[in-house]
Amino acid sequence: MPQQTPMMRQYLQIKSEYPDAILFFRLGDFYEMFNEDAVKASRILDITLTSRNKGAAEEVPLCGIPYHSCQPYLNKLVASGHKVAICEQVEDPKAAKGIVRREVVRVVSPGLVVDTDSLTPKENNYLLALAPGEKEQWGVAVLDITTGEFRVTEVAGLAGVRGELASLQAREVILQEDGWGDEVARELADLFAGRALTRLPEWAFAVDRATIELQEFFAVSSLEGFGCRGLPGAIAAAGAVLHLLKETQKEGLTHIRSLSTYQSSEYMVLDEATRRNLELTATLHDGSRKGALIGVLDRTMTAMGGRRLKQWISHPLLDVARIQSRQQAIAELVERSLERNDLRVALDGIYDLERLNAKISMATANAKDLVALKLSLQRLPELVDRMASLEAEFSRELAGRIDPLPDLCELIETAIADEPPFVLREGGLIKTGFNAELDELRAIAREGKGWIAGLEQRERERTGIGNLKIRFNKVFGYFIEVTKSHLDRVPEDYQRKQTLTNAERFITPDLKDYESKVLGAEEKLIDLEYQLFQQVRQQVVAEGPRVQEVADALAALDVICGLADLAHERNYVCPQVDDGDQLKIVDGRHPVVEAMNLGERFVPNDTLLDNRKNQLLIITGPNMAGKSTFMRQVALITLLAQIGSLVPAREAHVGVVDRIFTRVGASDNLARGQSTFMVEMTETANILHHATPRSLIVLDEIGRGTSTFDGVSIAWAVAEYLHDHPSVAAKTLFATHYHELTDLALTRERVQNYNVAVKEWNDQIVFLRRIVKGGASHSYGIQVARLAGLPRPVIDRAKEVLKNLETGEFVGEGQPRLAREKRAPVEQTPQLSLFGAGDDQLRRALEEVDVSVLTPLEALNLLDRLKRML
Ligand code: ADP
Repeated sequence: MPQQTPMMRQYLQIKSEYPDAILFFRLGDFYEMFNEDAVKASRILDITLTSRNKGAAEEVPLCGIPYHSCQPYLNKLVASGHKVAICEQVEDPKAAKGIVRREVVRVVSPGLVVDTDSLTPKENNYLLALAPGEKEQWGVAVLDITTGEFRVTEVAGLAGVRGELASLQAREVILQEDGWGDEVARELADLFAGRALTRLPEWAFAVDRATIELQEFFAVSSLEGFGCRGLPGAIAAAGAVLHLLKETQKEGLTHIRSLSTYQSSEYMVLDEATRRNLELTATLHDGSRKGALIGVLDRTMTAMGGRRLKQWISHPLLDVARIQSRQQAIAELVERSLERNDLRVALDGIYDLERLNAKISMATANAKDLVALKLSLQRLPELVDRMASLEAEFSRELAGRIDPLPDLCELIETAIADEPPFVLREGGLIKTGFNAELDELRAIAREGKGWIAGLEQRERERTGIGNLKIRFNKVFGYFIEVTKSHLDRVPEDYQRKQTLTNAERFITPDLKDYESKVLGAEEKLIDLEYQLFQQVRQQVVAEGPRVQEVADALAALDVICGLADLAHERNYVCPQVDDGDQLKIVDGRHPVVEAMNLGERFVPNDTLLDNRKNQLLIITGPNMAGKSTFMRQVALITLLAQIGSLVPAREAHVGVVDRIFTRVGASDNLARGQSTFMVEMTETANILHHATPRSLIVLDEIGRGTSTFDGVSIAWAVAEYLHDHPSVAAKTLFATHYHELTDLALTRERVQNYNVAVKEWNDQIVFLRRIVKGGASHSYGIQVARLAGLPRPVIDRAKEVLKNLETGEFVGEGQPRLAREKRAPVEQTPQLSLFGAGDDQLRRALEEVDVSVLTPLEALNLLDRLKRML
């Protein structure tokens, strides 16, 4: 063990307490990082990595950042998923005996960022804690420290946890250190891969302890009022959040005022795959908002509204009355264009009250933040006025909660300067007239300065020295400067202070008197201003709950105004929502494709789904015809209806759906290292296990990832299962290129065939984008291939091969000789039977095949070989 310097020993000691954080170790004007931390940070921050004891055996990697401009570096580290522990010198170096005492004063982690400027305004920044509850339940607690939102729930199993994670997109997760079985530990590791994890000891999750801590923190005598009685998992998770908060934030948590319990059963379930596939809040290809549903829906004017809209989209409702209540408010605002526009203009100038309020409580707010709060509040009376004519109950209720807080406005207006500086220690914060002592000090400072300013003129006259100057510097304060050539005229009462090359500096007792008045007053002034500012801030903190209430109502108002604006501009209608089983859409449109499609006019389509004759729609048609667009459109219209929005259609009737499932072909999760086919089957399995007759399922091209026969068989069996099993008989849209599946309608009463119409013209196809009754007769693959630009000779040859395949004729050496199985296997018996009793050779050959690794060409060759065995 090499000999360590005392400073390095101190560093290693502190670092050992924060092994999972990057330690910012304060040394003078720098935060230094050592060893692993230095290597990691220098890479992420793109700063120079050097080392202590360069050249020596025990070289220590080192990098540093300036203390006064550390914020951007800190933000970058945290944004890249790291925790940073900030270690300060906690005693005056001058007073310290030996090495200066240092302590970690704050730990910043991705889920506990308090510098709101580094966050995306329209996104929440959630910290999530997870704790096992009773009977397979899991407790989930969620906190956004920048808004004060703190909620808990319990969900069923790790599948439920996965759902919550997908909808909340938490930046950081708190978990118990150990005590898991191997299997659970593995599942958890998979669940949280790529997220910042914080492990806390088991006792931080103890329910009894958590109960007491929570009661103390919220100053209540029981947790009953929060609705989490009997939810031990939820309480444990909330306790863990609180524990971490107390560990990492030394003060200012007053904006976290209450805990609310929510039930995920109040909301439509959307699993992670479905959220992704429907591109609700991010597109599949680049994860941006633009091009996702939220990109079209978001016309909110405030950050609060933006975050609330995202919450609505992530949590569509199930309760018809709640849906209708939002609907009526939006529909009314669609009609009232004048009010809507005025409201949106008023909202436009309102700052992020939720985050301002949090900043104020956490004492990170400056005077400008208070002014921002005031300016926002000042817009409210007019806004409330505009709401007076609204009749919808939802709007009335919001209007009732938007209190312009005149007392608070008044306080800030009279106390805080209209354009205060960012810094709090240079004065200029408080208005004249707010505090008598402050005004007096200001008068003294002003008078003194005035006297000093006049002194120059008076002394010039008295001494006859024309270029005599009164000057100021930090060392001597005020002084009189006389150039060498006039020294003979300097009067008796001047006291020499300093000699320069060509001038001398003097002071007089009077000058020093006034100087001490001015400087004393200025110093006191700055202190007093700071104190007064803190007092005002404290008073504002005390009104925090009222500000939160207003912010909450404004967020919802902003969302409904935005949705109304969209509905107005894009001609959305108010859907009839009820508890029935019908999903009927007349002239429905895809909200995003419609908005993005610049070149092509969007062709509207009808939909009829129910649990009677129209439970399962088989949709065939060539690639690129519009099958996916149509199916997603149905899912999105349903979702829009259940968040209370109006929908892009001429008419719509939506029976509330408990879950939307999607299984969509193309893009796949290769990142997880699973094969395309495996992912497809896992998602399909999930659907078959969880769908209910109240669900809506979108299946796009399932079975595509394997050989044709396997594919048809699986697709067929899945469709049958969805139709035949009463417990999963969900409304289903099933797009497939296996035309065989259209035969299901012959034997299954609730199956309907549809296809996307195309027009054939001169061996070309024109997409009509109309969904019509009946199965498609043709897959037009070759025509689509031509559209895609495949070379002419390939197209011609493909046509030849196709013809041959269809007729079973042999046209050349090396030519596949597969006669198309003309629907035979499925027409009579739904069970595909490929071989008779005696075909052992065939069976063996098949058994040897690993279908999941076959390429389409190999599959074709294989079929050819099998065929020859017959
Ligand atoms: P498929 O799933 O049948 O392969 P898609 O749904 O992906 O086809 O649609 C292909 C393209 O056609 C989309 O990019 C879309 O822009 C366009 N499209 C689809 N439906 C419509 C429609 N109803 N009106 C206008 N354009 C459409």
